[in-house]
This record gives sequence, structure tokens and C-alpha cells, in this order.
Amino acid sequence: MTTITEESVVASVQAGALAGGSRRASKATFDVLDPATEEVLTQVADAGPEDGLAALATAASAQDEWGRTAPRTRAEILRNAFELLTSRSEELALLITLEMGKPLAESRGEVAYAAEFLRWFSEQAAHIGGTYREAPMGGQRLITHRQPVGPSLLITPWNFPLAMGTRKVGAAIAAGCTMVLKPSELTPLASFALAQILTEAGLPAGVLNVVATTDAAGLVGPLMADTRLRKVSFTGSTPVGRLLLRQAADNVLRTSMELGGNAALLVFDDADLDAAIEGTIVAKMRNMGQSCVAVNRVMVQDAIAEEFVARLADRMAGLTMGRGTEAGVTVGPLIDDRQRDKVGALVEDAVRHGARPVVGAEAPAGTGYFYAPTVLTDVPAEARIAREEVFGPVAAVTTFASEEDALRVANDTEFGLVGFVFTRDISRAVRVGEGLETGMVGINQGLVSNAAGPFGGVKQSGLGREGGDEGIEEYLSTKYLALAI
Ligand code: NAD
Repeated sequence: MTTITEESVVASVQAGALAGGSRRASKATFDVLDPATEEVLTQVADAGPEDGLAALATAASAQDEWGRTAPRTRAEILRNAFELLTSRSEELALLITLEMGKPLAESRGEVAYAAEFLRWFSEQAAHIGGTYREAPMGGQRLITHRQPVGPSLLITPWNFPLAMGTRKVGAAIAAGCTMVLKPSELTPLASFALAQILTEAGLPAGVLNVVATTDAAGLVGPLMADTRLRKVSFTGSTPVGRLLLRQAADNVLRTSMELGGNAALLVFDDADLDAAIEGTIVAKMRNMGQSCVAVNRVMVQDAIAEEFVARLADRMAGLTMGRGTEAGVTVGPLIDDRQRDKVGALVEDAVRHGARPVVGAEAPAGTGYFYAPTVLTDVPAEARIAREEVFGPVAAVTTFASEEDALRVANDTEFGLVGFVFTRDISRAVRVGEGLETGMVGINQGLVSNAAGPFGGVKQSGLGREGGDEGIEEYLSTKYLALAI
């Protein structure tokens, strides 16, 4: 067995050319940093607009043949890739920790979650159905058949560099679509590693084409206007999602948008407090709070607020900050200085408006983009943190008196991705679960992500679903055949 080292996992990634596509026109490169040390890990080819168009040309010319492959063939490629990803969990986890910063244990969790999408969609690929119906007036048969949408542009963020890729790529492969995948420039390595694994698993050349760039707008704009493109699937911030929706309108593209969130987590006074504290830690601290389903507003019923805050503060103060590769570390750095400064500014704004810091509320001195796990109480509604996604390790706690109050405040946001409710009363759990204006609800747990569940939001949190039975639908269109008999 070869030893896995930081250098070997970075060196094994072939990020110099389009995966499965033609050579690049641009000779430029950009640095990929380790957010814990601020040191350069490696350089990656910086694709320009002409490289993006070359990737789309490759995807478009591969579409016909790929769309006609047997579903079982696509299923087996995905299944092979699931096995390969799982067998390389250690290497991939280290790669994710190096470019993104999360602790190794969390990166292993991400690899398992990412692999699960490949397994789930391999099972879905062979179950694409159609219908057969007699026309109501007789004399005809109406047949529906599901076909791949066509070449798809997949744009992913930096927070789950591997899983955000497999969630889209798995569904597109199952449906028979070819792809251009554009990962975040902050974490491109996992996507190149994924492309290598899919090639090894049997994915034909040209089906998946990865382009990393420091000029996302310059590369993506021409692709969105190109009539060979038929779909865009985006995970990222709401402002960029809106821009892509406008561009998609001009080219009448199919769209899937997984955008920002502002999750509320409601703890009722009849909740199992141990479960509520653990659920809050998971919902808040996974990925150092840099998750679209991270809880932004922790809302606790009056009678238990004091005990809840004391216990939460205790748990947060007990977390260990450091480089994600080190044993015992439970909190890594934030992705970059911009993100760390934004978190700091939101905390300062809340304190200026009267919030009380119980633990944390500071960025430690030294290298790495760290911000201490923080608990704020008495957070007023005027504070920016009550409305804006913090995307960092800050739990902003407020209290509520009644179920009605809690729902009103929880729904008073433009976002609608996820909510969480902790209660032992099953009727209340269902009532509140149905009353939350979100696409997803976690009940007595701080995690909703599951490849077999439909992930997605309402309101400004987006359109469409990833995973579940719905995930593959985003990449299929319905063909209707009218048959005279
Ligand atoms: P971002 O919107 O800045 O970037 C996301 C991706 O879009 C990156 O690949 C980026 O290079 C690209 N991009 C940026 N500007 C672009 C442009 N003008 N045209 C085309 N592409 C462009 O978001 P981020 O900072 O990487 O990620 C954080 C955001 O993502 C948060 O708001 C978070 O809630 C959201 N997110 C949502 C989900 C979800 O499933 N709903 C999951 C993860 C993250």
C-alpha cells in the first residue's frame, strides 16, 4: 500500500487540461490555497471563455451517442464510480481538507455523502419510466417517453467541493446528459479528482468536461447564450442565481437553482434538551457553519432559554480550532479572509445593536482564516445577522413565547431552504413542519441531507430539487408520441 501524503494527493490531481475535452487555449494558471496555512497547494489551469466554449462543443458533440447508451450502462458506470470513490475515501478526504479546510472526519463524511449520490443515481438510471394511455375519445394511443435534456452547465460552490459535484453529475449521467462542470475557483481540485474517477469508472471521453476559472462571469456568460446549451444547474449565492436566471431566460434554458438560506431552528420547552443541543451543534458547526442548511437563527422557548444557552455555550467553548489535518481538531478555518471578515462584521453589527456575546466573537491572531465558535444572545431583529446568511460559526440566539410567535418570526425572511424543530409533541412537530415556509424541515435532528431525499428550497432559496426521486427529473424532458391505430 502506498502512503498517503499531502503532497501525493495534491500531485495526483490532473488539473492542467479539460477532463475529457480538448487542450486549453489559455496558458494561464491560478493558485489554490490551504485556508489553514494560507500557503499555495498547487496551481490549476485558468480557463478562459474560449476554453469554456471548447468544453461545450465537446459536450454537445458527445450528446447524441451518450443519450442513446443503455440505462444499465450508465447505471454501471455510476456504480463503479461509487466503489472507486469509496475505496479512495482517505485520499479524497485529505484533498478536501487541504483545499477547503474542514476537519478530516467531516471530509470523510463528505466523501461518503458524495459517493451516496453516485449509488443513488445508479439505482435511478435503470428506472426511468414512461406512460401508455388510450386517448379519451379512442382511436389513438398516447405514449410518453423520457429523454435527456441535453448538454448541461453545472456550477458548484466551494463549501462541499465533492458532494455538490456528485449531486449534479450523478443525476446528469443517470439521465444521459453531457456536461460542463465549473467548480468554485477556491476548491477546484475535488472536481478534477471526480472527473478522473469517472473516467476510470468507464465514462466515455467528452461526457464530463471540467473547467476551472478565475473569471466565472467571463466564462459562463457566453455559455449561457449558446444555443447548444440546454440546461444550467447552479448551487451558490442568491445574487448569482438571479443573474443566471436572467441569462437563462434569453436562451430558454431549463434551470435548477440551489441558493442561499437563513434557517431557523426552533426549540420548544417540551424538547429533549440533549437532542436539541446536539442537533444545534450539528446544524450550526458542520463545515464551520459554511453550509446553506446551517442554522442562522436559534430560537428557544422562554422557559428553557437560560439552560439552553448555558449548555450550548459550554459545548461551543469545548470545540477545538485548528488545521483540519490535525488530530482532535473539530473546527477548521473559514474559506478565505473575505468570509472571515464578513462573519466578524456581522458579529460586530449585532453587538452594536445590543446582542450579548457569551463565547467567542473574535478572530484569533496568526495565520489561517479562523473565527472562534461564537454564541450571541439577545440578538435584536434589527441586527443584520437576523436577516443575512452568516456562513460562519456563530449561533445567534433569540427567545419566543408561543408557537404562533415562533412561526411568524421564522418565516419572516426572504429565504426558504430549511428549518429545524425540536419538540416531543408529534402534532406540534407536524404543524410547525408544515407551517415553515421552507423546502425542507429537520425534526428532532440537525441534518436533512440525504441522497434519497429531495434537497432544495422555496422563495429566494431557489428552484428545483437535487437527490430523491426528483433529482433525475431535473435532467429529463418528456417526449410525447401520438400513435394512430
Ligand atoms: P457564489 O455564488 O459566489 O459562487 C458559486 C459558484 O458560482 C462558484 O462556482 C462561482 O465561481 C460561480 N460564480 C460566481 N459569479 C458568477 C457569475 N457572475 N456567473 C457565473 N458563475 C458565477 O457562492 P459561494 O460563495 O461559492 O457559495 C456560498 C453560497 O452558496 C451561499 O449563499 C450558500 O447558501 C449557497 N449554497 C447553497 C446550497 C444549496 O444547495 N442551496 C449549497 C451550498 C451553498
